[in-house]
Amino acid sequence: MAQTAMQNQRSIPNFQPLDVELRNVFKFFNQEPAVHGVDLDVKQGEFFSILGPSGCGKTTILRLIAGFERLDAGKLLIQGQSMTDVPAYKRPINTVFQSYALFNHLNVWDNIAFGLRLQKLSKLEVDGRVGDALKLVKMDSLRSRFPSHLSGGQQQRVALARALVNRPAVLLLDEPLGALDLKLRKEMQCELSNIQKNLGVTFIMVTHDQQEALSLSDRIAVMNQGKIEQVGTPSEIYERPQTSFVADFIGDTNLFSGELTTIDIGYVKVLTKSGLSIIAVRPEDTPLELLQVVNLSVRPEKIQISLYQPNLPHNCFEGRLINVMYLGTHVNYLVELTNGISVNILQPNTFGSLPDRNTPIYVWWSENDCLAISQTSRVNQ
Ligand code: ATP
Repeated sequence: MAQTAMQNQRSIPNFQPLDVELRNVFKFFNQEPAVHGVDLDVKQGEFFSILGPSGCGKTTILRLIAGFERLDAGKLLIQGQSMTDVPAYKRPINTVFQSYALFNHLNVWDNIAFGLRLQKLSKLEVDGRVGDALKLVKMDSLRSRFPSHLSGGQQQRVALARALVNRPAVLLLDEPLGALDLKLRKEMQCELSNIQKNLGVTFIMVTHDQQEALSLSDRIAVMNQGKIEQVGTPSEIYERPQTSFVADFIGDTNLFSGELTTIDIGYVKVLTKSGLSIIAVRPEDTPLELLQVVNLSVRPEKIQISLYQPNLPHNCFEGRLINVMYLGTHVNYLVELTNGISVNILQPNTFGSLPDRNTPIYVWWSENDCLAISQTSRVNQ
């Protein structure tokens, strides 16, 4: 079974040396910035993911680190050394691609041994390293097979072994599980996580699968349009998004915009244009002014619903059910509040018989589950 984010949370100490550093990095294609002033620190032994929508610049960052593309501006350091004049083949890095890129005319053993033989290592050394790598990815019994006689998951294991056999300091993984079906993908996620932890090699993985990033990573960088929006642990990214883009991109959320009417220690009160007064967690390290417009984000699973009016002083509103979607373990409710706002709610399937559409209903949420964040992207009124 795939590990959850909570199980996976390790804390890589802050004083851990950095394996990869990007400093104000730019990369342009046809005068358009694919990477726009990116700063990034990846610590030694970390499982670091870069997550973002298609075309946001994830692969370009990986290719810059690998040395397949040149920086247009900024600095790239690997283990403290500038990589400006270091070609790809001399960097202490290997890459695993979604497409595996195995040699079809070589069997599993020879695919893995290929790079080591090029380095003219002794037969003893090659045999030892290939044998260890095969055991690591559990492909020992298939060492004589050719790639065309392997499943997608098995081919991906060989690609992983072929990269790891070179003992890179940093392994780059570009959508490594993208070609696998869901079940195999889950299995391989677990394997990937175990291999990374056992070896302690720094992994930098590019993915657009947020579940994969949340469950595997020590830290995640969320990218949008060539820029980093936020870097944090999976729970920081999910529970404390710093921008509306991150709140919206990672999981589902309800976004409302409104004016700050009260600023207090730790909390703010916001009045939406449609007249809701909502108490929310104050954003950290952000100067605030009264009447400033902010966004509020509250996750669907943090909103409670009830047929009866709860006795709560704030963040409790009346509405009616617009839609009820049965999802098996959970039920998705769409509620229209009396002032016209629609709220998306996800609750465990514990209601017994589901309420009908148009049923009057009350919704509420804790102020601790509602975040005030800087304003961009789509919002409700
Ligand atoms: P995806 O998830 O779809 O792979 P991505 O986030 O990895 O996307 P990149 O492949 O890094 O995105 O591309 C970032 C931007 O740079 C895109 O607009 C893309 O079209 C452009 N781009 C990337 N490589 C090149 C290239 N060799 N020539 C021209 N434009 C490029």
